[in-house]
Amino acid sequence: MTDLHVHSCYSDGNGTIEEIARKAVERRMKIIGIVDHGPSHITGLTARKIKNRYREIEDAVEKYSLEILSGIEAEVFPDGTLDIPPNSRDFLDFVVVGIHRPLNFQEYHKLLIKVFQDNDVDVLAHYGVGANWIIRNMELVEDLFEIMVENSVAIEINEAYLVPDDYTLGICRHYSLNYSTGSDAHLVSEVGNIEWSRRIGETYFKKGSNIAVSWKRK
Ligand SMILES: [Zn+2]
Ligand SMILES: [Zn+2]
Repeated sequence: MTDLHVHSCYSDGNGTIEEIARKAVERRMKIIGIVDHGPSHITGLTARKIKNRYREIEDAVEKYSLEILSGIEAEVFPDGTLDIPPNSRDFLDFVVVGIHRPLNFQEYHKLLIKVFQDNDVDVLAHYGVGANWIIRNMELVEDLFEIMVENSVAIEINEAYLVPDDYTLGICRHYSLNYSTGSDAHLVSEVGNIEWSRRIGETYFKKGSNIAVSWKRK
């Protein structure tokens, strides 16, 4: 089982890498991804924090029979760039993008389409969270999913927010999208909470499309 959305004390989570690793083993995870917030978040990552965290992850990987990926949950700036500290890519195994401000349907989709065209991104976190969409434009959803398939951006099934919603999952069925399962744990006790996500992944997505299964650290 895989949980690719865990926050540590390197941003706003409460657990050390060691504590998270121990809990993940206890919950029988095979692969976890630590994705702390980027620098625009008040407790977010800096280049130095990413390096230090990377060393701690290496130590934990040696100690436990667990694959731990070093990641970031990057915010998107209005111009479509990402808040990732400079010179830190060597210490990041993967990049998750999450939008944390309310945007209307069109703004949200157009911004993400630009992001995935311009940047190397692995996962879109909690699609649509915080958005108050009354009217949805199917064409924009299709454009977004096509870009995601083209650029191998996986859609996250997020246990904390229970998204994507039913409507979106119905559309997902028609695309060869990859997916990831994520608890969005901020507490150590939440690490590996992916029961719903796992079930949704197996129900709505093609066999073998869970990205984490084929992932290894660099
Ligand atoms: Zn988030
Ligand atoms: Zn998160």
